Amino acid sequence: MIKPIKKSWAEPYKIKMVELLKMTTARQRKKALEEAGYNTFLLRSEEVYIDLLTDSGTSAMSDHQWAGMMLGDEAYAGSRNFYHLEEVVKDIYGYKYLIPTHQGRGAENILSKILIKKGDIIPGNMYFTTTRLHQELAGGKFEDIIIDEAHDPENEFPFKGNVDLNKLEKLIKKYGAKKIPYVSMATSVNMAGGQPISMKNLKELRAVTKKHGIRVIHDMTRVAENAHFIQQREKGYQTKSIKEIVKEINSYTDGATMSAKKDALVNIGGFLAINDWDVFEEARNMVVVYEGLHTYGGLAGRDMEAMAIGIGESVNDDHMHARVGQVVYLGEKMMEFGIPIVKPVGGHGIFVDAKKFLPHIPQHQFPAQTLAAEVYLDSGVRTMERGVVSAGRKANGENYFPKLELVRFTIPRRVYTQAHMDVIAESTARVFERRHHIKGMKMIYEPKYLRFFQARFEKLK
Ligand SMILES: *Cc1c(COP(=O)(O)O)cnc(C)c1O
Repeated sequence: MIKPIKKSWAEPYKIKMVELLKMTTARQRKKALEEAGYNTFLLRSEEVYIDLLTDSGTSAMSDHQWAGMMLGDEAYAGSRNFYHLEEVVKDIYGYKYLIPTHQGRGAENILSKILIKKGDIIPGNMYFTTTRLHQELAGGKFEDIIIDEAHDPENEFPFKGNVDLNKLEKLIKKYGAKKIPYVSMATSVNMAGGQPISMKNLKELRAVTKKHGIRVIHDMTRVAENAHFIQQREKGYQTKSIKEIVKEINSYTDGATMSAKKDALVNIGGFLAINDWDVFEEARNMVVVYEGLHTYGGLAGRDMEAMAIGIGESVNDDHMHARVGQVVYLGEKMMEFGIPIVKPVGGHGIFVDAKKFLPHIPQHQFPAQTLAAEVYLDSGVRTMERGVVSAGRKANGENYFPKLELVRFTIPRRVYTQAHMDVIAESTARVFERRHHIKGMKMIYEPKYLRFFQARFEKLK
């Protein structure tokens, strides 16, 4: 019998313009890395060949988005692009009121200041760096209520972003619902490896929080990618569109913070969306202090226009199929080489398990930071640490030692080709081959906040 021919996905677009890259030698990369204190965040982007540092603000905009930029209405107040964005947020996401912000953390700042009082508890399905910091700066304490499976990179549970409702009930019992202003629920949980939450879990979360009068605030930075996984994996959703699924997800929440630099295919932008008039009114007052007038929130009119168009493109089924298809392609290549990665593959990148990759390097010698440096040295591919450096310190000064010690290979949307994916996997495989000779590092400079951005390291001899 003839084997049926495999049906591959392919990009639902073609390339209209290219950006030329500088190719570097091993010697140039060694010098660049030393100057950057072995922190890939401190490399100049010119020194990078394939940039997988982040999927944040690195997407390629479409011709429609670029055309939209020309329609920017740069009025100080009441720009027509704001009204377009407001309409799109209502229509596609289903939230009532919109406050634009310069990016996601601007929305987190305003929301945390409004809803959190000193001593409050904010349960969430795993922390995110800026989200937790704003919760803490507002006087709250983050409590992780993600399911245990999320902390195990080998566990292939399809919805590792799920909330453990028992953990939530326990917190409610311990502190009382009054101390919990909201549950901070993320779709496509970034720090767990881009893992999705299921619709079933969300419905249950809504039921529990409703009973206790607790809000659910949605970190919707990658909601469309989460919707894709629900469509692929959850019973009853195969025939629903990404657009329908996104709207249903949001319907179980009371508001959202958004970094439009991810799903929404723009280079800058974000917003706070909320259904509650009182919170909206207060946010509308506060945005003027921190971001800009409530009809621009730190953005140019053209940025809001590109965002409005990008949101529409992000919930297109063909787009999402190719987007996640490319990530999965890289993951499968890595696995063929025996490289230990977080499974199942998440939506926005491949997360390599540095504890498994470099088992001889203890966590206080930064195995993930070390691995990110080695991959850059090999090929100029820039990745980032998501482990002990990113986790930072507790209020009492002790280091957080997270179970997951990962290197994130984040794939920008619509930017790189399949050949780039091959180069990335092969480079990582070469580092894997010589892993036993790789030594750890020590931190020689540590900033006070979000230290992973600017910390510096030295190689151990
Ligand atoms: C990027 C990100 C944020 C913060 O958004 P910025 O636009 O970078 O300020 C918040 N939550 C998640 C899950 C993110 O990935």
